[in-house]
Amino acid sequence: MSRELPPLVEPAAELTVDEVRRYSRHLIIPDVGMTGQKRLKNAKVLVIGAGGLGSPALLYLAAAGVGTIGIAEFDEVDESNLQRQVIHGQSDVGRSKAASARDSILEVNPLVEVVLHEERLDNDNVMSVFEGYDLIVDGTDNFATRYMVNDAAYFLGIPYVWGSIYRFDGQASVFAPTLAEDAPCYRCLYPEPPPPGMVPSCAEGGVLGVLCAAIGSIQVNEAIKLLAGIGDPAIGKLVIYDALELEWRKLRVRKDPNCALCGEHPTVTGLIDYETFCGAVSQSAAEAAAGSTISVTTLEHMLKERENGERDFVLVDVRELNEFEINRIPGSVLIPKGEFINGNALADLPSVDAGQQVVLHCKSGVRSAEVLAILKGAGYSDAVHVGGGVVAWVNQIDPSQPSY
Ligand code: ZN
Repeated sequence: MSRELPPLVEPAAELTVDEVRRYSRHLIIPDVGMTGQKRLKNAKVLVIGAGGLGSPALLYLAAAGVGTIGIAEFDEVDESNLQRQVIHGQSDVGRSKAASARDSILEVNPLVEVVLHEERLDNDNVMSVFEGYDLIVDGTDNFATRYMVNDAAYFLGIPYVWGSIYRFDGQASVFAPTLAEDAPCYRCLYPEPPPPGMVPSCAEGGVLGVLCAAIGSIQVNEAIKLLAGIGDPAIGKLVIYDALELEWRKLRVRKDPNCALCGEHPTVTGLIDYETFCGAVSQSAAEAAAGSTISVTTLEHMLKERENGERDFVLVDVRELNEFEINRIPGSVLIPKGEFINGNALADLPSVDAGQQVVLHCKSGVRSAEVLAILKGAGYSDAVHVGGGVVAWVNQIDPSQPSY
């Protein structure tokens, strides 16, 4: 089913001589032409996140001549970003990502205007940040922000282009329930966030850097189509890219008449508490971790006592082998989380009767809290996990180790 929508943006009055020269390869495409390019010039697009997806998206939006580009980003450039966030360079490490992205954009195209929103998007500011933009390109990497973006965009009637990446897999779609009656929103596709701990973030699970370019460019492609009113937008379509198989698929996404947001009887009629809705950890994990979380400084102390024979415990790293090979807490043994879920791990642990304490850790403390709930359920009542995981260990105890 193909769909034609009116352009989102009215054309600007004119293009300058410089602009005509710069955008000539667009101008000679009949579907874009002078009018399409003037629409891009008049367009205001907000990109959420100047990270993996935001990097290529921002650079190509700027190069294409989108007149006003907003960047919502509060983070700083870290060395581990540079593997994929190509809008930042080595000399930007430690700088504000928003400012670094702006500098790169103006180097690509000084004719566009860049607006920085250097604050963490939350319920208090999201509506005022979004207001006035014609379109949003969402490059966020967490579920709480995604649902907030979806809801706020819906309430303001702003269409948005969504993208998501993980390891070798990418997805993209356009959510614009206010543009067409049958157009779905993100909640129509994903009514519920995944159970906490089930879907690792890119920081936990990794992402192939170049995948960002594939998905980010699809997002910009859709943005340009919507702004200029050309082609058939990915409304009601989910684009799925499998980089390992080099396979693109396009699935139909239907509007859900029972959608909590855009359905016939909505229950979400204002912004909600997205952190609680998505839950950083599951309820059972949160309960298990309450009162059973130790700090890395406590762990360091415990490890010294173990060395001196004053204490006995098993330190279990529940990450995956490839993570264990990057960095580790000395004296830990690796038993990946999956082994606890399928029950095999219990055979490798001292029995409950042995009375030996089990200390768990992962990268940041989410997976280890999930495993802690399993262990407590199996009778290991004195088991604990390390808050902040190996990230906190490297930051606070052993900065000589690499982080990821
Ligand atoms: Zn919906």
